[in-house]
Amino acid sequence: MSLRLTGLGAAMIPVRVYQGHKVAVLGLGRSGLATARALVAGGAEALLWDDSPEARLKAEAEGFTCTDLTRHAALEGVACLVTSPGIPHLYPAPHKVIARAYELGVPVDNDIGLFFRSYATPGWDDFATAPRVVCVTGSNGKSTTTALIHHILQVAGRPTQMAGNIGRGVLDLEPAQDGEVVVLELSSYQTDLARAMTPDVAVFTNLSPDHLDRHGGMGGYFAAKRRLFAEGGPDRAVIGVDEVEGRYLAGQLGEGPGDDRVIRVSSGQKLEGFGWAVFARKGFLAEWRKGKQVASIDLREVSGLPGAHNHQNACAAYAACRSLGVAPKLIEAAFASFAGLPHRSQLVGEKGGVRFINDSKATNVDSAAKALQAFPRVRWIAGGLGKEGGIKGLLPFVGSVAKAYLIGHSARDFALELGDVPHEICETMIKAVVRAAEEAVAGEVVLLAPAAASFDQYPNFEVRGEDFMARVKAWIG
Ligand code: ADP
Repeated sequence: MSLRLTGLGAAMIPVRVYQGHKVAVLGLGRSGLATARALVAGGAEALLWDDSPEARLKAEAEGFTCTDLTRHAALEGVACLVTSPGIPHLYPAPHKVIARAYELGVPVDNDIGLFFRSYATPGWDDFATAPRVVCVTGSNGKSTTTALIHHILQVAGRPTQMAGNIGRGVLDLEPAQDGEVVVLELSSYQTDLARAMTPDVAVFTNLSPDHLDRHGGMGGYFAAKRRLFAEGGPDRAVIGVDEVEGRYLAGQLGEGPGDDRVIRVSSGQKLEGFGWAVFARKGFLAEWRKGKQVASIDLREVSGLPGAHNHQNACAAYAACRSLGVAPKLIEAAFASFAGLPHRSQLVGEKGGVRFINDSKATNVDSAAKALQAFPRVRWIAGGLGKEGGIKGLLPFVGSVAKAYLIGHSARDFALELGDVPHEICETMIKAVVRAAEEAVAGEVVLLAPAAASFDQYPNFEVRGEDFMARVKAWIG
């Protein structure tokens, strides 16, 4: 069978732990197909299913045959069910196939769990330096922090690969090289389900409400992220302590404040009394060890990392790279050459003294609040598929808003919540950009920071950001 599979030539970590066994794969997106290829390459029989006929066709075009896993008997004799992060496994209700696996006692895992059981091979015995894995989780800043760690390691000349929630499936990685560092971004859906997680360094950026429907509330959401530390037992934990959950986690992982297996990170707080800490205040990053400052970096002119939220990401990436032995000078040079990621505080253009910023990735209240605080006067484009709790949490941060231009499904609900804050219901991106651009005066920023998911009007936040950019470019001419 494996010879016919067209995708098998791609880079891959073969999964050998199920050699000779049947494994069911539910969800045939990027990570599902990569999982199926990796299982087949490792000698397992993969039974594939996706509720979407288009996804099944894509798998079949690659040479796989699909098996209807929703049939009652389909999971009998299956050693494991591997599922994709987009498919609910517990709340609001598990997918029918996953519920059946629970009934039968079939273990449920994901590609992250398989990766951690497959990445190390006997060939590592010949390496001078064992490969390492850094994992990044948290509510916001995961992608930026992950990409920044990867960039710093590249600048430092270390072999490195990046994957996870950030674009490349973990099982699509190249097999390890001597001394390599793999950097993985992990969402709460991924950390909630993975049956094995053994990172060398684990990073927790911050916590604010998101995806609560999938985790049964805030406690479930935090518990999902906490698994990376509790199950994973990393050698070094980098923990953002700007929320109580981070302080609780840091306290729980260390033997006391002097324990330097925990590196505490903050944007705003002075953390001088700990074994190891990295914090940013007034635009300066400082590293403290055992009561002494050992390094500092001026972040004020680092154009790829604007705003206090990005300074938090810079501290987390700095701490992770310091724990891998990278020198502060190299990290400083890498900050200066970091271009930032698209759709996060991305400058699209300027006309008549008005700047246009794309922060389409600001899909929740906390990230939108950070974006609103980064500019003195804002024409704010918001709305989409609103999240639980709406935008009440943003009201303390609307001081900078000259006017809101509301789009998408949540436009009317957001209008009600905004009350006296000037606003207009625009429905579509094109109308919102034109209205905001017409009314903006020099010195203001037209900011897309939706505080909502994109799925009512777009396939994802990237397409929403591209639509914004296209409308802005048409306006600028
Ligand atoms: P994630 O991968 O966790 O979603 P991103 O780096 O993609 O994180 O950033 C997501 C959104 O949050 C963007 O709108 C970005 O501007 C904002 N953001 C980035 N870093 C932080 C942070 N440390 N705290 C709060 N918001 C942040």
